Amino acid sequence: MTPIHLFNSLSKQKEIFVPKNEGHVSMYHCGPTVYNYAHIGNLRAYIATDILRRVFEFNDYSVSQIMNITDIGHLQHDDTDDGDDKMTLALRRENMELTRENMKLIALKYFDAFRADIERVNIQPANLYPFASDHIEDDISFIQILLDKGSAYATGDGIYFDTTSLAEYGRLGGISVDDAHTESRIGEAEIAKSKKKNIRDFALWKFNDTLGYDASFGKGFPGWHIECSVMSMKYLGGLKEFMGDWQNFETFDVHTGGVDHIPVHHNNEIAQTEAISGKPLAKYWLHNAHLIIEGGKKMAKSGEAFITLQTLEDKGISPLGFRYWVLGAGYRTPLQFSFEALESAERSYVNLVTRIGHIRNNIKNENMTMLSQNESLARFKSLINDDLNTPQALAFLYDIINNPAIDGVDKLHIIEEADKVFGLDLMDKSKEIENALKENLVVSDEISELAEKRVEAKEIKDWDTADKIREQIAALGYEIHDVNDGYYFTKKKLI
Ligand code: AMP
Ligand code: ZN
Repeated sequence: MTPIHLFNSLSKQKEIFVPKNEGHVSMYHCGPTVYNYAHIGNLRAYIATDILRRVFEFNDYSVSQIMNITDIGHLQHDDTDDGDDKMTLALRRENMELTRENMKLIALKYFDAFRADIERVNIQPANLYPFASDHIEDDISFIQILLDKGSAYATGDGIYFDTTSLAEYGRLGGISVDDAHTESRIGEAEIAKSKKKNIRDFALWKFNDTLGYDASFGKGFPGWHIECSVMSMKYLGGLKEFMGDWQNFETFDVHTGGVDHIPVHHNNEIAQTEAISGKPLAKYWLHNAHLIIEGGKKMAKSGEAFITLQTLEDKGISPLGFRYWVLGAGYRTPLQFSFEALESAERSYVNLVTRIGHIRNNIKNENMTMLSQNESLARFKSLINDDLNTPQALAFLYDIINNPAIDGVDKLHIIEEADKVFGLDLMDKSKEIENALKENLVVSDEISELAEKRVEAKEIKDWDTADKIREQIAALGYEIHDVNDGYYFTKKKLI
């Protein structure tokens, strides 16, 4: 068996993955806050978790995958428990009355859009998408126990977790309570406003008399961090016969999120869970790097450069061209956004599919030589098992395609297997190309002449003319594709 190595943010190194239960993986992904459409940075995060799931499945694990939906309690400034609730902002933006029913309507609208987006980029659906607003009773029972144990306290503003009640706080990213005290940040002003005791203490519940939910400790909303502890523990921590019995929780395998979650959100999830159960929340913590925009800033829902999948499609970049671009970098490498980079990825993706279409079309010998396949697949597995090294695994796929010593049937089998991890629809899309080739598309004399003129232009490196001719051919309804020894046509917009 080829081991899977994953970079664990807890130890800050790659570790061999060993699941709690043999043959099975339980994992939780911090899901979207559904107050707006997902941007392509969010989708980058979930393509990473999709690859993770596919790698586990490629290694014959069964996977339980939970992604929460935050539809309540996520404040604008979640590091300081300050600012407006993001769902409230969405209601204002869309001129809707501030009611809990409307919050749910907004949440469902953006959740549906999110599901449609992830489907288009071939992200497989999770087993469950629990909504935070459906778990208020669970939050309340959890917070009550923390209060009873002395791990939480009330202020005029809400219920806060006391980070000094834990021997160790802030293991992720190496933040200690002492650091927190000496850190300037918002400091004294923040403490004064919330009346919390220590700067790292965080809200479990924020009082709200108008819209809040009833609780014995005061009407209000749960904090964002408590939602994730509650939902991940409930669905993955062996609490199937859930009776508010949080102490019976069992650590699950993998927890993920973007790197922005490391210092605050995930440290707080860990703190709450350890305080209530005495057990670690998850064994492996994986964090994706950001998709960044000009100036090195992270693409953000509240930021100015907010690019959705639809924006890309409007510019001729397909969802799978976008996925191909994302896979070209490891999930822990920041991705610098630019339309040029994405346009180039789209072209490479179409080329890849076209080349596979040609391999399909040229197959003469139906016999497979298992040897070259087995070796290649073992190599592929060792690459992708190395902390989801998609760029190297993709490069390896190109090596296979370029290798004249490997038979077409074998190539196709390897491509098919590798695409179980990549999720790029390589087989279906290349079948369309093969069909077009088999149809032996006959074009008019006019198009043939244009194509020949284009060959001449390319010979003298007159790319402008070559591009213009491509457009003329496109206007006549055909796409011209270049291959090593010439060109061929497909009807426009085949892939
Ligand atoms: P949100 O809906 O903003 O709470 O974020 C959903 C997920 O996307 C979280 O795991 C974030 O860490 C992640 N995320 C947010 N912005 C980016 C970005 N620019 N690049 C990559 N991941 C991101
Ligand atoms: Zn979370």
